[in-house]
Amino acid sequence: SDSHFPVPLTPSHVDYALHYPQYFQTDHTIADNGDVNNNSTASLHKTQSKKIQFADIGCGFGGLIVSLSTLFPETLMIGMEIRDKVTEYVKERILALRETNPGQYQNISVVRTNSMKYIPNFFEKGQLSKMFFLFPDPHFKEKNHRRRVISPHLLDEYAYTLESGGIIYTITDVEELGEWMKACLEDHPLFEAISEEEFAADPVVKLLTSATEEGQKVARNNGETFTAMFRRISPSDTE
Ligand code: SAM
Repeated sequence: SDSHFPVPLTPSHVDYALHYPQYFQTDHTIADNGDVNNNSTASLHKTQSKKIQFADIGCGFGGLIVSLSTLFPETLMIGMEIRDKVTEYVKERILALRETNPGQYQNISVVRTNSMKYIPNFFEKGQLSKMFFLFPDPHFKEKNHRRRVISPHLLDEYAYTLESGGIIYTITDVEELGEWMKACLEDHPLFEAISEEEFAADPVVKLLTSATEEGQKVARNNGETFTAMFRRISPSDTE
């Protein structure tokens, strides 16, 4: 249950030094009285200048963030995953990549959390520029639709978290879920569909299937996929 993992009280409580040690070192200075200052004041200051900008919601085994890491080497990104063992696997995967590729993969991390409850604990208003919802669980029965990670209510939260111009990427192999996600986004006043041209030009799009473990599985079975990409607009854009 949720009690098994810590949840940051606010986004300023997210431990950036833990997730991105190369960017945010803990301050081990020696105070005048000889005590070792193990505080993270320095990292908190730096946190204000560099923040997580991409979030992969329900990241599974982490294939997407691993691929995005080298495509956007200066962007901090995080995978959010509710399953403990899967999260641990992704942590190990990132540590191993950092070890075998010195200086690389420092911009990605993973956290075990319930993204349906705690997104506002991790990100400030307008902080993110990309959110990914790749092959989310379908929750077929109507009474379980409220468990879907894209819903009218949760889209309010995602709109709050995304900067104006930020993009939500969704993909699924379940047609009904694809229709649902698209309809929720179309109906929301703070999102607009992305044009075909922009879709074709975005280097991230091909990774939605090629980089994720679930996408690779679907591709192996020659399965069809349903993609929806929407931009966060500001209310004045719609006037
Ligand atoms: N996105 C990955 C991919 O494309 O390979 C994984 C897709 S998998 C079908 C869905 C993932 O979402 C699972 O790993 C599941 O544990 C995770 N998940 C489901 N509900 C979640 C929640 N509320 N918070 C965080 N992760 C969740």
